Amino acid sequence: MKDNTIAVHAGTLRDEKTGGVNTPIYTSSACDYRSRDESPYPRYFNTKNQKAVGEKIAALEHAQAGLVFSSGMGAISTSILAYAGAGDHVVMQDALYGGTHNFATEWFSHFDIDVSFTETSADSIINAIIPETQVIVIETPTNPLLEVVDIKKIAQFAAHKQITTIIDNTFASPVNQNPIDFGIDIVVHSGTKYLGGHSDLCCGMVACSKVKMEKILSLARVLGPSLDPRLCYLLERSMKTLGLRVNAQTKNAMQIAQFLADHADIAKVHYPGLKDFKGHEIAKNQMSGFGAMLSFELNDKDPDWGGRELKIISPAVSLGGVESTICPPSSTSHAKMTKEERQRVGVTDALLRLSIGLEDIQDLKQDLDNALKKVTN
Ligand SMILES: *Cc1c(COP(=O)(O)O)cnc(C)c1O
Repeated sequence: MKDNTIAVHAGTLRDEKTGGVNTPIYTSSACDYRSRDESPYPRYFNTKNQKAVGEKIAALEHAQAGLVFSSGMGAISTSILAYAGAGDHVVMQDALYGGTHNFATEWFSHFDIDVSFTETSADSIINAIIPETQVIVIETPTNPLLEVVDIKKIAQFAAHKQITTIIDNTFASPVNQNPIDFGIDIVVHSGTKYLGGHSDLCCGMVACSKVKMEKILSLARVLGPSLDPRLCYLLERSMKTLGLRVNAQTKNAMQIAQFLADHADIAKVHYPGLKDFKGHEIAKNQMSGFGAMLSFELNDKDPDWGGRELKIISPAVSLGGVESTICPPSSTSHAKMTKEERQRVGVTDALLRLSIGLEDIQDLKQDLDNALKKVTN
């Protein structure tokens, strides 16, 4: 089956009573224990609604097993802790989702886990490996600079050293990147973004082999970040249109990136689809589309512009929804850093991150053009 067929059909449980084509919502948290190996219980991650979406993400990510969580951070923290314990070392990129970064800096010491942060390149990640390294966590493309790392190079090296690799595939989504095909062990998602896709739910997902899933499931059952069956259903419904949405958003983003790159008021555009972008060649090898996230810097006429005067593109922090949103990373995702630290990692005050939605491309371009015309000279 191809992606759109998988998105529509994988995991769906037909309603036996009515013949309905959708998975029914199973609300019970108390189920008959007789004549069953295991009764469904939400915190056991084994209700029919959890299994339906789990199967869908597994199929979309070319994995054997999938699991849904109540947030992306639930999926990420559980996956890391399942494979890194006392005395172990973890390698992570510096440019990682803020929550993941904070989890490592504020909580790893609590579990006696050591961590090294590296630049966003396969060589820096590989060079940071020490004999105690048990887990490598990567993210590509990164937030907010869309830097790209060579997934296959890292996965191959790690496999050879028997190190577990985890990738946060939120930005690309399974439509544009399938890391398991390149040898990555565990794929995690903030389902709050493209998988949910309508900025109306919070969830996370994991996809990996059946063997790798055993520890993750076992830990998840005691940590408890499970998703309610009703939200599982909403997520399942959203995931059916994942391919249509993300392909259309990706197409829009390519055009917006080009439009901004050609615009006189824009100093720099960060988008893996642009030919002169640093990570373009690697992205071409590992992504089927370049995604719908991009960022850009205004030239120095009005560094505090911040996208004011935009009428369609909304100022909002999250991403991946059907509506286009814009936010300044310096005062949102990277606000905890000092100005100097931000400068060092390339997050200037003039940087703006765009999540491109499903609106008509002419309207998006015009919205940006009109707003940019009001930049003070
Ligand atoms: C939003 C996000 C997360 C965290 O997901 P939540 O659902 O908010 O817990 C993790 N990684 C990336 C790349 C994200 O954008």
